[in-house]
Amino acid sequence: MLAKRMAGLHPYVPGEQPKDRKYIKLNANENPYPPSPKVVEALNAFVAAHPEKLALYPDPDSLSLHAEIAHMLNATGGVLCRTHVQGEVCTPDVQDALPFTVTPDMIYTGNGSDEVLSFVFYAFFDNDRPLVLPTFTYSFYPVYAGFYGVPLEQVSLHADWSLDVQTMLAKAQEYDSSIIFANPNAPTGLGLTRSQVRAMIQQAPKDKVFVVDEAYVDFGGESCIPLLAEFPNLVVVRTFSKSLCGAGMRLGYLVAAPELIQAVTTVKNSLNHFPIDAVSQVAGCAACKDTAYYVQCAKRVAEERDSFAAFLRDKGWNVLPSQTNFIFVQKSGIDGHKAYEHIKNDGILVRHFNTPGIENFLRITIGTPEQMQALRTVMADL
Ligand SMILES: *Cc1c(COP(=O)(O)O)cnc(C)c1O
Repeated sequence: MLAKRMAGLHPYVPGEQPKDRKYIKLNANENPYPPSPKVVEALNAFVAAHPEKLALYPDPDSLSLHAEIAHMLNATGGVLCRTHVQGEVCTPDVQDALPFTVTPDMIYTGNGSDEVLSFVFYAFFDNDRPLVLPTFTYSFYPVYAGFYGVPLEQVSLHADWSLDVQTMLAKAQEYDSSIIFANPNAPTGLGLTRSQVRAMIQQAPKDKVFVVDEAYVDFGGESCIPLLAEFPNLVVVRTFSKSLCGAGMRLGYLVAAPELIQAVTTVKNSLNHFPIDAVSQVAGCAACKDTAYYVQCAKRVAEERDSFAAFLRDKGWNVLPSQTNFIFVQKSGIDGHKAYEHIKNDGILVRHFNTPGIENFLRITIGTPEQMQALRTVMADL
């Protein structure tokens, strides 16, 4: 009964989503804090005051949401955890200030950045040349490559888990092809600086799109949004799922030159005209309007990360330096899968990958101080 192409699908395997809720969940890089109370207020008001809007199609182009996202990026420079807050007013740290104003025509939004990424693959990556990416990066990229028939050139990381930028560039030049990676990268947590990415784009093919996925940048990385002033082929991918406490809202977005946004919009209008429902548009707008709240959440997560990392290092663990809301850790003599099982038996879910090369690592999402205290107790005697 199935179409032949089904045989080639290798779906993404997400972190476990337990139905019984008895676990402390530190396995999917979700934010441990709820969305801003203003999001809850806006949703209640929307449903109470405009129930008829649920009977109508939403704005297919999410124009209000694009305006609010642009406003938030201009107020933060794209990095929440360094944003300065005075009352309700947010200003970027000097190192993050944008050299231009992000405008709504530079934003595209979709049903989670996973959907946005799939449209990016469709719009920009050809089938006649390999897409260049690191071996260890977001594991959805190879899934989409399989789905769209895009060949891959996977470049090993250096021994210290950083990107092998020189080899990635050499491959991109050899094949005249695009590059994609997460910055900071997952599951390592390591990031390139903006000047490192600038040097990379300068040497990458000019007529091919260069994609940087900034799902985690708000927790302490350097955003590449300022580089949009220099490179018309740069596409920055971002999400509400991590730093904006909104994984359940399914909102992701792109920041890029209006011409590239147009191309992705064409793909959207050929596949799913209304990717973002009316309720999510309201929630997303309300979230962007309370940037100050999310700045506090990002700062709390970053502080807890550094304190938890120090604790594990003290216990002899190798903790890769993280700019994200998770840490990637390993201890010599400890089997990764057994450690994962041990922690799960004590009621806490962390992420373990069976992938050769990282099978002895655990990826631990940073939760609230109380959740991390529970994990300290469980890991202290490992
Ligand atoms: C979580 C994550 C995404 C997906 O985010 P959604 O918006 O929830 O689909 C994309 N890229 C990276 C690197 C991620 O970690």
